[in-house]
Amino acid sequence: MLPICNICAKTRTLCASCETKLKNEEISEMDVKIAQMIYDFGKGDLGFEKAVDVGDFVVVLSQKADIGKIIGPGGENLRKMEESIGMHIKIMGASSAEEMIHTLISPANIVSTSRLYKADGGIMKKITINKNDVDKLKMDLHSIKKIVSNLLHTDVEIVVE
Ligand SMILES: [Zn+2]
Repeated sequence: MLPICNICAKTRTLCASCETKLKNEEISEMDVKIAQMIYDFGKGDLGFEKAVDVGDFVVVLSQKADIGKIIGPGGENLRKMEESIGMHIKIMGASSAEEMIHTLISPANIVSTSRLYKADGGIMKKITINKNDVDKLKMDLHSIKKIVSNLLHTDVEIVVE
């Protein structure tokens, strides 16, 4: 599955339904760009969940099984995507949102996760990691926070204790 429908990825124009998703911020411009390229690489058979622009680079979240094909032989597809968007891309795979969070935070351990209720009635997810693990993280906390919030469609707070 792609964030936009296959026809939109192929024709490079958005149908009313994909256009609405973009307007409602369920998907981003980055999702659209990456979807068009990955559609071409896989001739319609490859998918990904989300492309998140974290500032310094873009994280593409996909099913583990698709990672090799998305990267392409010798990294060819990855290079093409990076050239096209002008940013570095990290491709990360997991089969569920929970697994994705663990992949992003590993090798650091999650001490606890909890839900917090905000003053406006919204829900926020709090993830606590051990302070001794911070140096082991693959990316900075701000980037992790942004990806996880995007993935869960909720505000996320990462606490180091
Ligand atoms: Zn569409």
